[in-house]
Amino acid sequence: MLEGISSSLQKALGKLRSKGKLTEDDVQAAMREVRLALLAADVNVKVVKQFVDRVRERAIGQEVQKSLTPGQQVVKIVYEELTELMGGSQERLRMAAKPPTVVMLVGLQGAGKTTAAAKLALSFRRHQHRPLLVAADVYRPAAIHQLEVLGKQIDVPVFQLGNQADPVDIARSGREEAIRQGADVVIIDTAGRLHIDQPLMDELRRMRDALQPDEVLLVVDAMTGQDAVTVAESFHQHLGLTGVILTKLDGDTRGGAALTVRAATGCPIKFVGLGEKIEPLEPFHPDRLASRILGMGDVLSLIERAQEAIDLEKAQEMEHKLRTAQFTLDDFREQLQQVRKLGPMDQILKMLPGVNKIKGIENLQVDERRLQRIDAIISSMTKEERQDPSIMNASRRRRVAMGSGVTVREVNQVLNQFEQAREMMKRFAGLGKRFGRRSALN
Ligand code: GDP
Ligand code: MG
Repeated sequence: MLEGISSSLQKALGKLRSKGKLTEDDVQAAMREVRLALLAADVNVKVVKQFVDRVRERAIGQEVQKSLTPGQQVVKIVYEELTELMGGSQERLRMAAKPPTVVMLVGLQGAGKTTAAAKLALSFRRHQHRPLLVAADVYRPAAIHQLEVLGKQIDVPVFQLGNQADPVDIARSGREEAIRQGADVVIIDTAGRLHIDQPLMDELRRMRDALQPDEVLLVVDAMTGQDAVTVAESFHQHLGLTGVILTKLDGDTRGGAALTVRAATGCPIKFVGLGEKIEPLEPFHPDRLASRILGMGDVLSLIERAQEAIDLEKAQEMEHKLRTAQFTLDDFREQLQQVRKLGPMDQILKMLPGVNKIKGIENLQVDERRLQRIDAIISSMTKEERQDPSIMNASRRRRVAMGSGVTVREVNQVLNQFEQAREMMKRFAGLGKRFGRRSALN
């Protein structure tokens, strides 16, 4: 779903992700690619311009420059603006204070109204409601039969008066029938045309005025791209829509409709259709779709947590110490503590995109208790010992083991590990210097 835009946006932003510092040129270049990606996805030109302007302004601003991971921060801004573009948060259906709730589905022929009606009925049934489907498409041959077949399949009653009756009468009688049966939701499947025309709009408007539905939902085919947006604007003008159901998002749609409908019409997308099979309709979550488009897994919440947990100044100080090999056990412990503030290690790993696809990852357990014991061991040492572990003779080691409630063997292990780590850093620091000199000659 939306693979095209997904991969092109990820490509545009991928170059930023790994950068430690961002120049204005980096951001400008990325924004040019984001713009092209959106245009290629058939997003409305005006919407693209507003979107890119907003992201660029934020990306060049303070918020990014001061952050720990500027590249990631830009990705986060794109994510937030994509979410906002698609409506921000999920919009639920309006339910009548006094049942039955009346939902009218409108849209062009072939958009997926009848299918969506059945899916919506199934969603309601799964939530302990008693829906009634009403067959008010009297024009398309076999439309009534189609709804009856679907109704039988999901075990939801279908009301009909044949194809000679007036659709407005059918809808009205349908609601009376619902009250008689004790159904609390009435879903009206209406007729469509190949193109928008006045007689259709007049009929739908008469129905709307007669029933005063709680929801007038436009069913629109995502595959039609910007046409879907034009259709939505027109229906909204004539009928005052309360929301949109975007169907066929399972196909290779380019995404323009999903990204533009809300911005162009102000109407929220409330559900999406993801296939011909009758399954409950998927509620539309702008944030989840945005995150899916950007291939982020749960990396967002990870960025947020890292931002909260890790002090930028401390991180830079630590990096300096690492480079100059002045790294002590105190620093070691502080790093452990900062990492542990992020949360349980196994959860963090699972949040990283890609990692959660590794087989067996759900069984992964990082030994939190071991991290705690290391912390306890270092805490039991004196200040001098932490600065210079080489003074740790046998009696000091015994004392620390007693103080932290572990064995001497474990104390030895931690000290050895630390020593090895420090050795390695010294070597890296040396390498760094050599490379530094060489590049200075070039
Ligand atoms: P209506 O004329 O608006 O009532 O449209 P229908 O409900 O009869 O659907 C028209 C065609 O689109 C049918 O072949 C449906 O199976 C198909 N369809 C409807 N919704 C979806 C969807 O979300 N995904 C896909 N792939 N096909 C769909
Ligand atoms: Mg139909």
